[in-house]
Amino acid sequence: MIVPKSDLKSAAQKRWDVVVVGAGNAALCAALSARESGADVVMIEAAKPDQRGGNSRFTDGAIRLAHGGLPDLRSLIPNLTDEEAARIDLEPYPIEAFVNDMMRMSGGRTKENLAIRLAEQSTDTVRWMLSQGVEFELIFDNQAVREEGRYQFWGGLVLRSVGRGVGLTDRLFARAKHLDIPIVYGNAAVGLLREGPTITGVIVGPSQIQFDCGAVVLACGGFEANPELRSMHLGSKWKNVIVRGTPYNTGGGLTMALEAGAVQSGDWTGCHSVAMDQGAPEFGDFAIGGDIFKKHSYPYGIVVNQNGQRFVDEGADFRNYTYARYGRALLEQPGGIAYQIFDQQVESLLRSEYFGKNSTGYESPSLQALANQLDIDQKAFLRTVTHYNQAVQNKAYVPHVLDGKGTKGLSPPKSNWALRIEQPPFRAFPVRCGITFTYGGVDVGEGGEVLDDGGAPIPGLFAAGEMVGGLFFNGYPGGSGLASGAVFGRISGLHAANKASQNRNV
Ligand SMILES: Cc1cc2nc3c(=O)[nH]c(=O)nc-3n(C[C@H](O)[C@H](O)[C@H](O)COP(=O)(O)OP(=O)(O)OC[C@H]3O[C@@H](n4cnc5c(N)ncnc54)[C@H](O)[C@@H]3O)c2cc1C
Repeated sequence: MIVPKSDLKSAAQKRWDVVVVGAGNAALCAALSARESGADVVMIEAAKPDQRGGNSRFTDGAIRLAHGGLPDLRSLIPNLTDEEAARIDLEPYPIEAFVNDMMRMSGGRTKENLAIRLAEQSTDTVRWMLSQGVEFELIFDNQAVREEGRYQFWGGLVLRSVGRGVGLTDRLFARAKHLDIPIVYGNAAVGLLREGPTITGVIVGPSQIQFDCGAVVLACGGFEANPELRSMHLGSKWKNVIVRGTPYNTGGGLTMALEAGAVQSGDWTGCHSVAMDQGAPEFGDFAIGGDIFKKHSYPYGIVVNQNGQRFVDEGADFRNYTYARYGRALLEQPGGIAYQIFDQQVESLLRSEYFGKNSTGYESPSLQALANQLDIDQKAFLRTVTHYNQAVQNKAYVPHVLDGKGTKGLSPPKSNWALRIEQPPFRAFPVRCGITFTYGGVDVGEGGEVLDDGGAPIPGLFAAGEMVGGLFFNGYPGGSGLASGAVFGRISGLHAANKASQNRNV
């Protein structure tokens, strides 16, 4: 239910139970959960309706959850037929594996209590999302390899929302409309109201309209779209990077929370960033409705910089465990660009984005002819490929497992899926760093309450989604962003509603 501009002041005249700031996945889950708990909820969103949904709208909808294998997942994907199911190999992904992945990716720095809560509640939360109207499907194209008529899933990540991020957010918005949750668009929250230590409302928009309420859930993203804050926290190189998603996540929620006494949590110098097509726009394009510029198939080839040198282990792990830190590695290369190089053998494994009309790529019958088209030290590049080819070990090539088919005596090594680059045509794709979201956030308690520097809850203030700090450091298991938004959004919504009802009854 859109609140028209003319009704903004009257919407603000009423006292709300819960004000949710933002309208991405985390905010929508918080609002729906608060509404289900009986609260009178309003959402405040900086973007206009045609740019709503935040980063969540740009996602592939891939969502990580703990599960017991295909039989366990089938209730979440009712459209899967028995015939299809019979052709699928998909390992269980227990809660412990999810927690281990979170801890492994962060080098043990993730707050374990958050990782456990995320993993333990992931399955039930996805089931709850299903009950809210979100549909799910298996990720056959990007998380499975087809071999001898069977689909072999890999990397722990198996499920996505039908229609990807657009489908996910459309369904959640439809549910919000069904539950009569009003949404104020085109107005950013700019401040919090407080009485003593208690947060009592939100200041909205350039006219500073005050929304009084019993509890506030801040779910309005990180600071990835703010060049000054990026420069301040991540380093000056980050000032001019591609922003993969919404331009509205400029750190306003974090600033408001910190001003209210919240303690910083997590890795404020870190972010999720990936390889993007060199020609990607400055921000995500809502009209396209998704990210068609990512370049995620590097484990099947090699990546070289303008000096013609490799600089990462392209096969260190499955793509969804390495891609989030390789954007940073790219940014550190001369000119901030690199080329992903493939030969014909892996063409069928490249993601569809590589062949779209917006993809920048070069193809040639020889490596020399390919090099002629690139802004690269040609001799060094050809030497790199020769050395790489010589270092490749003869072993079975199996793309859906960590096959150990690596290089010997090469630095950096390629640890898995090392095929010689020898079959024409050869392809090169120029890539730059694109930031997805920032890792720094605020500390939250068990119910999503924002904590102060003494570890005490700031009464009436909750946070969810990218604003929750302490989950991600350095690496990131793909699909955890949506899982975190949904799990912590749902928790915050419930507890904000409870808090508001306590306030009502005082
Ligand atoms: C291109 C891309 C692909 C991705 N793919 C995946 C994927 O497949 N799986 C996955 O798990 N994660 C993915 N992610 C990460 C994922 O998007 C985030 O982790 C998650 O969606 C964040 O949800 P959120 O609700 O916290 O933030 P958002 O969805 O960004 O929502 C924040 C909202 O707050 C609004 N806002 C900001 N400031 C204010 C303010 N002051 N007042 C009011 N409103 C404000 C914004 O306009 C926005 O609507 C991807 C991200 C991108 C950019």
